[in-house]
Amino acid sequence: MANARANGRIPKFQRVMVVSAHPDDPDFGAGGAIARLADGGAEVTYVIVTDGRQGGEDPRQKDAELIAVRKKEQRAAAKVLGVKNIEFLGYKDGHLAPDLKLRRDIVREIRKYKPELVITHIPGRVLDAPMGGSHPDHLAVGEATMAAVYPDSRNPRAFRSLLRQGYEPHEVKEVWIPFWTMGDYLVDITPTLDRKIAALRKHKSQVAKPGREWDFEKFMRKRHRDVGKKAGYQYAESFKRITV
Ligand SMILES: [Zn+2]
Repeated sequence: MANARANGRIPKFQRVMVVSAHPDDPDFGAGGAIARLADGGAEVTYVIVTDGRQGGEDPRQKDAELIAVRKKEQRAAAKVLGVKNIEFLGYKDGHLAPDLKLRRDIVREIRKYKPELVITHIPGRVLDAPMGGSHPDHLAVGEATMAAVYPDSRNPRAFRSLLRQGYEPHEVKEVWIPFWTMGDYLVDITPTLDRKIAALRKHKSQVAKPGREWDFEKFMRKRHRDVGKKAGYQYAESFKRITV
C-alpha cells in the first residue's frame, strides 16, 4: 500500500461492539473502520445473531454443514481485522423479528462487554437504497439493537433477570450505522481497505458462490473510492453517527 494515507482521524474507544444479523455483515458493512478502531487499541466484539444457514444456493446442503463453515469463515475474517471476541447467538437465519427475546439477548451482550460504541444495521427500510441492504433480518437486528442501547442496557429496571444474573446496567455512548454511500460520517479506511478485502475473502461461501461469482473486490473498491471523494480520502466508509 505505497500510497496509503492515514490522515483521517478516528475517535478512540476502549471497547466496541458490532451487532450483526449474519456472518459477513460486520466485515462488509464496516470492516475498514473496525480494523482502524482495533488498531487504535479498541477491544472489538462481534455479536452475530443468526447462524447463517440461508446464505447458500444449494437447498441440498445440510444446515449444520453450512452453519459450521460460516462460523469458521467469520472467525478467520475477524482475525484479519483484529477483532478480539465473537459471540454467536445462534438464531435461525431468515426468521428474526425485533422481539423482546432478541432485545434481551443483545442487552445481555452489551452489559457483558460494556462497549462505548455500538455498530449495527439500519433499523428501518430505506427505499432509496439497494434492496440487499434491507434484508428483514438486518432490520430486526437494527431495531432490537437500538432499543437495547436505549433504554434497556442502561436501565436497571429493564429485564430484571439479567441483573439477577450479574449483568449490571451500562450506558453506550455512540451508535454508528453503515449507510451505503449516503451517511454523514465518513471514516478514512485508506490504511485498512486491503485488510477489509482480505477479510471478505475469508467468507468464501459468500463471495465465491458456484455459478454466482462476483467481483466483490472491484465493487467494494469503487464504492469506497466514491465515498472517499466526498471527504478527500482515497477510500472511506459511510456511516450515520448517533450520539446516545
Ligand atoms: Zn446479512
